[in-house]
Amino acid sequence: MIPQHQRAPCYYCKQELDSEALGTAQWTGGWVIKRRQGGGNAVALPQRQLIWACRYCVDRAIRGEIGQGGLFEAPAMPPPPPTPPPPTNAHFDQQGRFIHDACAGCGAIGASFGVGVSLRKNKLGLWYCGRCYAKTIDRPAGDLPV
Ligand SMILES: [Zn+2]
Ligand SMILES: [Zn+2]
Repeated sequence: MIPQHQRAPCYYCKQELDSEALGTAQWTGGWVIKRRQGGGNAVALPQRQLIWACRYCVDRAIRGEIGQGGLFEAPAMPPPPPTPPPPTNAHFDQQGRFIHDACAGCGAIGASFGVGVSLRKNKLGLWYCGRCYAKTIDRPAGDLPV
């Protein structure tokens, strides 16, 4: 008999399984650090979910026999980690004005050439003086300074 609190349906075949039994698989997401030889190390900071599958079904899924045909949806993934904001040397002051005064290259005041600026996407960009802008930027034709 499987203790009540260990009973769970297999994600694939829905048969009841023992979540603590050897060979039972648990859906786990996390970070895998790539190795030089290929592949990856063990999962770091694993996020286990209460989704289980029996070994038989997991083996079939690995072989591609189930799971990819639209019969089953992939288990819900944890939300992706927040992406860090892109680098910028600009900011908004307390009045909400967009400030980009010091050059990201040499620090001179009067940085009026912005790179990677998209205020609608909250990318404040990097701002340069004319000299640094000319040095730094591989300008595609038609990419005019902001
Ligand atoms: Zn199963
Ligand atoms: Zn400069």
